[in-house]
Amino acid sequence: MEVLPDALVRVIKSFRRLPGIGEKTATRLALHILRRPHAEAHELARDLDELHSLIRLCSICFAFSEEDPCRICSDTRRDDSMLCVVEGSGDLMAIEKTGAFKGRYHILHGVLSPMDGIGPAEIKVEALIRRLNKGTIKEVLIATSSTVPGEATASYLLERLKNRVIVSRLACGIPLGMDIKYADEHSLARSIESRKINQP
Ligand SMILES: [Zn+2]
Repeated sequence: MEVLPDALVRVIKSFRRLPGIGEKTATRLALHILRRPHAEAHELARDLDELHSLIRLCSICFAFSEEDPCRICSDTRRDDSMLCVVEGSGDLMAIEKTGAFKGRYHILHGVLSPMDGIGPAEIKVEALIRRLNKGTIKEVLIATSSTVPGEATASYLLERLKNRVIVSRLACGIPLGMDIKYADEHSLARSIESRKINQP
């Protein structure tokens, strides 16, 4: 027999669906929220709801944003000739934190993974090609993770982009097999500074 109230069990189940959260942590978080004032739970529920109601994808770079175009795309101080291609929003945030990149971004929202049925059509590749066709972008920095799918995506992009623009890759600083959003700022900054240029 379940000893916990149903409402509490439902919250624990919801937390367990989050990455890295097991039964113990989920229970601890749910009990913590229950012990705190009702207003705090209400604020949390509202903030979670607004993630979906207020945030959309930028129609240019596909970053999560409340505005369209997003703040980075509408920032006139940024370099229009440089484009950094990343897998997801966490990667964009990690690169922005280094302050080492002043160009624009393109978020793929995934990596190629044929085993999981993810091909070029499932990530934002064609939108990237359309952006390049406008002719403003001179260099594309491919900043996918050094995981097997990340590397496969980088190779695919190198092939698609060659003879169109200068293509560079993140160089030393990121350990093999590491997801770039978990890299420290210095390693990531060094990777950007020492990126490898593949001439078209
Ligand atoms: Zn944008």
